[in-house]
Amino acid sequence: MALKVEGVYKSFQGFLALGGVSLEVREGTFHALVGPNGAGKTTLFNVITGRLVPDRGRVYFRGREITGWPTPKVARLGVAIAFQRAQPFASMTVLEAVVLARLGYTGNTLKLLKPLVRFPEARAKAEEALGKVGLEAHAGRRVAELPLGDLKRLDVAMALVAEPRLLLLDEPLAGLSRAERRRMVDFIGELLRREGVTLLFTEHDTEAVLALADRVTVLHQGQVLAEGAPEEIRGDPAVRAAFLGG
Ligand code: ADP
Repeated sequence: MALKVEGVYKSFQGFLALGGVSLEVREGTFHALVGPNGAGKTTLFNVITGRLVPDRGRVYFRGREITGWPTPKVARLGVAIAFQRAQPFASMTVLEAVVLARLGYTGNTLKLLKPLVRFPEARAKAEEALGKVGLEAHAGRRVAELPLGDLKRLDVAMALVAEPRLLLLDEPLAGLSRAERRRMVDFIGELLRREGVTLLFTEHDTEAVLALADRVTVLHQGQVLAEGAPEEIRGDPAVRAAFLGG
């Protein structure tokens, strides 16, 4: 099992954001985490990546318990999150941003920046990652100049450059037009299957979830309402009643 979440609870000032969530993501699969705003998806991502320590419950990555581990340690084990990672790097070039991601910079430590020639290995890995997401021709452009679709590809490159085994994507299609969403679904699907990366993603676009996911977990008010193959979830009366319009 790539990821196992067991009975996780998390409260904020008495508000129960996660009320005993369990989840299993099999190695090599694409797993969607769906549910309305406030369901607890982001909180669960933060528990998995170590940004939040759960009040109760456990998180395992490839059989090893990582509950409460600091984020950089979880990242070194092979868990990457792609979510607006490029923003702190807006004034840099696309290549610089990916090199820094390879070196483990988050944007808080940019003062340490040295010329890219000092990091030939990281540069080679960064160029390779840009090639994988189709941004090699934009390596010299400023991050701030990229249109949203390319920025999302850059986010993915910045996550992939660490060569993760598990990638977390938080609403990868948010803000994109319908045509761009289709392209992004194809892109994510082809790229990650080719790379053999296990994927856990949140997404509101039902069509995209059906197209991408092998399994779906439905969260509702901090609890798992349903779990199964996409077609099962779509036909689940409890799920339809809760938020697919009955
Ligand atoms: P989702 O990502 O599914 O929209 P979240 O995990 O962001 O849901 O939020 C779940 C609930 O927890 C929401 O009601 C939200 O207001 C609350 N919440 C999340 N983070 C915090 C926080 N740091 N402090 C207080 N409440 C929070």
